[in-house]
Amino acid sequence: MNDEQSQALYDRALSVLPGGVNSAVRAAIEPYPFFVRKGDGGHVIDADGNRYVDWVMGLGPLLLGHDLPDPVQAVIQQKASEGPMYGTPTEVEVDLAEFVVRHVSSVEKIRFVNSGTEATTSAVRLARGYTGRNKIVIMQGGYHGAQESTLVDGDAENPSPSSAGIPASFAEHTLPVPFNDEEAMREVFEEHGEEIAAVMTEPILANYGIVYPEEGYLEFLRELTAEYGSLLLFDEVITGFRIGGLGCAQSHFGVTPDLTTFGKVIGGGFPVGAIGGKAEIIEHFAPSGDVFQAGTFSGHPVTMAAGLETLQFAAENDVYDHVDGLGERLRSGLTEILADQAPSYTVVGAGSTFKVIFTREGPRKDSLEGQCDAGCRQRPACPRYDHCPKTGGDVKRAETDRWRRIFWGRMKEQGIFLSQNQFEAQFVSYAHTEEDVEQTLEAYKEAL
Ligand SMILES: *Cc1c(COP(=O)(O)O)cnc(C)c1O
Repeated sequence: MNDEQSQALYDRALSVLPGGVNSAVRAAIEPYPFFVRKGDGGHVIDADGNRYVDWVMGLGPLLLGHDLPDPVQAVIQQKASEGPMYGTPTEVEVDLAEFVVRHVSSVEKIRFVNSGTEATTSAVRLARGYTGRNKIVIMQGGYHGAQESTLVDGDAENPSPSSAGIPASFAEHTLPVPFNDEEAMREVFEEHGEEIAAVMTEPILANYGIVYPEEGYLEFLRELTAEYGSLLLFDEVITGFRIGGLGCAQSHFGVTPDLTTFGKVIGGGFPVGAIGGKAEIIEHFAPSGDVFQAGTFSGHPVTMAAGLETLQFAAENDVYDHVDGLGERLRSGLTEILADQAPSYTVVGAGSTFKVIFTREGPRKDSLEGQCDAGCRQRPACPRYDHCPKTGGDVKRAETDRWRRIFWGRMKEQGIFLSQNQFEAQFVSYAHTEEDVEQTLEAYKEAL
């Protein structure tokens, strides 16, 4: 596979962009990332003309793939041609807000911003402002964007910033606990309950693994936070309008959070974030309330139109059936391949997400009878139950180097573009086909 152009572009990039990229994980690909020339349906074509089946889909936003259906495309172009933005409201912001309120039952009001990071930052400020409390509980390994309150490692007793540039005194207000661990969460609440503004978690750890919640865990979080007067904040930046269809992951699990952050899919491929929830809480944002929040580009007409048209298209067509069906096909196909070739590895994902975690230990090859057949569901009866990842730490202990340094390149050589490390999810779009799935499964067989 020729990569001269990508190499030359990366050479230029290194002179003017730190690490040659504009987002840290992009440089995870070694020795250098490939540069994309353009998308084509469920595929991308790189600067050297190589074509790949694309399961990265912009790291989540592209529910419809690279070729937007004509009605979606037409509205976006119309909006852009009328002048990009105005600094005063437009109708399409109200339209998209109404659409979300109609479909996501926990959302009565919503504030649009420009990235997932901005959404989680504003949501944390809102939770603190609303409750008058400072502490935020997060899941170890969970990712909520590049923001001060959540770039925190360690545990609830010893939290520390995970990045330079964050004062240790900021991290003191953040309490990291393991996902799926009721006892650890109960202990944190016994110790700090009256000071906890919110528990923030993805309903599925989709940005770290992927890790599915154990039966009853999200319900447990709902009850515990309610008991202490803390908020339950679901970060649905990935899972929103991706898992559970238009009702999002909260409808899939039947658990109602107080606040939800959105991003990725809700902007139809343009920069976006949003914070939704009970009207009584969301009203605390300025100007109706005293939690300051503002943004020059917030509610950008082109983004709002792209998000609205994408979701409306999904509402009127078989988008979720298609992506969830292919997701299921991929996960069940991978489960069969692993049973034969790598029985210790774990297939994870739900809906239109999938991943293979290179878990070091698993059940014996002859004892796989009755395992989860299309992605780990944390069923105690599954023979993998004792080995499949339940926390971010479990994912981290997998063969993450083998995944990134060896496996990823073997897939790329076969024309399959997977996300750049063990931790980022992979996504099916409406543009993907059965053929893409078959080609991908064949490539896994070769590469594993
Ligand atoms: C991507 C992501 C974010 C951050 O969103 P950006 O748009 O990259 O700032 C936050 N939370 C989760 C769960 C994400 O996957």
